[in-house]
Amino acid sequence: MVGRGRHQHNEINAALAALRKVNRAFTVVQDHNGHRWGWVLCSCGEDKFVINCTPRNPGVHAKQIQRWTVKHDKCGAEEQEEGS
Ligand SMILES: [Zn+2]
Repeated sequence: MVGRGRHQHNEINAALAALRKVNRAFTVVQDHNGHRWGWVLCSCGEDKFVINCTPRNPGVHAKQIQRWTVKHDKCGAEEQEEGS
């Protein structure tokens, strides 16, 4: 059984856990709907990454998540400095 907030593929879980640590700007929302597992939102509100429930290649999908977070790397920078 897959628990709440956990993807069935460990590679995806690792990518999601990593992005939550890396940047507070990112929010992972779990919302099952068909092949969609959920999405990753950025605080800039300009973009979101749809997480596939059953990606053909979990490793590639995990890399796509990482690439997306790199694209939004700077978004939460100011908030992070304020908070700490
Ligand atoms: Zn952003």
